[in-house]
Amino acid sequence: MRLLIVEDEKRLALSLAKGLTAEGYAVDVVHDGLEGLHMAGEGSYDLVILDIMLPGMNGYRVCGALRSAGNDVPILMLTAKDGEYDEAEGLDTGADDYLTKPFSYVVLVARVKALLRRRGPAGGASPVYEVGNLKVDTASRRVFLADDEITLTTKEFSVLEQLAVRAGEVVSKADILEHVWDFAYDGDPNIVEVYISTLRRKLGPELIRTVRGAGYRLEVRA
Ligand code: CA
Repeated sequence: MRLLIVEDEKRLALSLAKGLTAEGYAVDVVHDGLEGLHMAGEGSYDLVILDIMLPGMNGYRVCGALRSAGNDVPILMLTAKDGEYDEAEGLDTGADDYLTKPFSYVVLVARVKALLRRRGPAGGASPVYEVGNLKVDTASRRVFLADDEITLTTKEFSVLEQLAVRAGEVVSKADILEHVWDFAYDGDPNIVEVYISTLRRKLGPELIRTVRGAGYRLEVRA
């Protein structure tokens, strides 16, 4: 899951990014409305957190421009309490939800999760992927093998989730990197291999196949 934060208050943006990264999301941050519009339009984000008062272009206009371009990425708008923001106006431009500053971080995370669930492939229900005797519950972020719960770190879970969503298909290392690590991740892409081998150790060696030169595939067995 990749999130974009468009927020010019740098300290707030940074702390949101830190918190959401710890929740297991890949997070990009920009501080300018125009740049936000560009990134949201180009990138494959699962959700955008959009401030209203921004340099470059305000949040209403960013939201309106995305919607009129046919972009239906979920948008959570942020605003100050002093009335700069009119809820109806925000929702009219196509925002999915709004949050008034100062907000509690816990509330923000709950709203983000609710928006992502609403968007989920199961059409509102939190998807649980079952592959053979492996069960990946993306709402509770728990994994079961047969009836045993397997404890995974947030990153391990996110890597497995990418494979489970496309079980039986080859998922490239680049795809995994892009969705689990930040878009701008410039470390060693072999980090993916490290996580795959940990997952194999925890889930058994046969579940995740390496497809030479292409990526990884979660085996679907009858
Ligand atoms: Ca602002």
